[in-house]
Amino acid sequence: MIMSDKCKQHVDSCRFCWMCHHICPIGNATGHERSTARARALGISLVNREAIELEEIMDNIYECCTCGGCSNVCVTGWDPVMFTKEARLQAALEGKTPEYINTLVDNCLEKGNAYGKTEICDKLSAKIAEHNKATDTLLYLGADTRFGGACGQGKKAIEVLEKAGVAFTVLADEPASGSQLDFLISSANETKEEMEKCAKVLSNYKTVVIYDPNDAKTIKQLYKEYGIEVNANAVTYTSFVAGLIKDGALKCDKKDKEVVFQDPYQLARDLEETEEAREIIKANATLKEMLLNRNETVWAGNILMAQYLPDVIKKVAERRIFNAKSIGAKTMVTACVSEYVALKSVEQNDVEILSIEDLILG
Ligand code: SF4
Ligand code: SF4
Repeated sequence: MIMSDKCKQHVDSCRFCWMCHHICPIGNATGHERSTARARALGISLVNREAIELEEIMDNIYECCTCGGCSNVCVTGWDPVMFTKEARLQAALEGKTPEYINTLVDNCLEKGNAYGKTEICDKLSAKIAEHNKATDTLLYLGADTRFGGACGQGKKAIEVLEKAGVAFTVLADEPASGSQLDFLISSANETKEEMEKCAKVLSNYKTVVIYDPNDAKTIKQLYKEYGIEVNANAVTYTSFVAGLIKDGALKCDKKDKEVVFQDPYQLARDLEETEEAREIIKANATLKEMLLNRNETVWAGNILMAQYLPDVIKKVAERRIFNAKSIGAKTMVTACVSEYVALKSVEQNDVEILSIEDLILG
């Protein structure tokens, strides 16, 4: 496998101090040492030394959710996300990507989403149609919201902005941001082409409000890394809504409810946004904090990885619900549509799962 010197250096520089062990959501869910960052590095190192074939470690490469929990705590500045993504890129270039990943990639290329869906639910479709007129502001919902089984949340995201009297557009035919392809095949040409097409559409607006933190990270951070420009003010949904509350445009009723917040890693670690969602919550409920919050957050699962690791993702979500339960929390609020779906998929009655929109709309 061809790997950059920088990645090779990171692969070989682990000090085996175990400081990152407790934070890996996948390693904790499977209970397998092989799922952790350190074990993944050992596997890649063996491939780099031509002791084993790349194909032999590909399932392991796709076990990582790229949440960056390990790189965030690594005392030596080691970055497992970087070399995991490079291994995915190389596998794609060498035609060594597992079949179950190829299916998701083909769906992205043919249908614009990894789930291969072409229709969104009637209720969301109707809501989108109410906002088909051109305005300066685009609400970008994203592929997980439209096609990943979270239509109801997309509709509520629209209703919150309606409640605040915002004039905005939602596209019936929204281009994919490239976030799913980036996860699957990293910075391959196909990913960049998808991103470029999306950037062109987003640049028709003054402001783009990005609902899904995964798309927000992609558009606000990865586009820059890949040299793709968006000529619009791209903002996260949480920061936009917090601004509406601050300006008095969005009136909230404070409920008699105590909640904890599940920080999405894309906001907390990648975009360094932790307080905006808390401001929204504080206007609507009483906020308590879980252990491992803000940039130390633990990922709670997503829709994309549930396509090929459903049982692991359920365990990931169960463990995060347990974190909330262990401090006596009765309600957990999410700001990521994908985490919301993962947490909701766990059958339990101890902790109520709400999205930010659920909380605002009461
Ligand atoms: S990026 Fe996240 S899932 Fe991947 S090894 Fe690090 S902590 Fe584990
Ligand atoms: S914290 Fe860094 S150096 Fe320590 S075991 Fe984890 S990856 Fe290796």
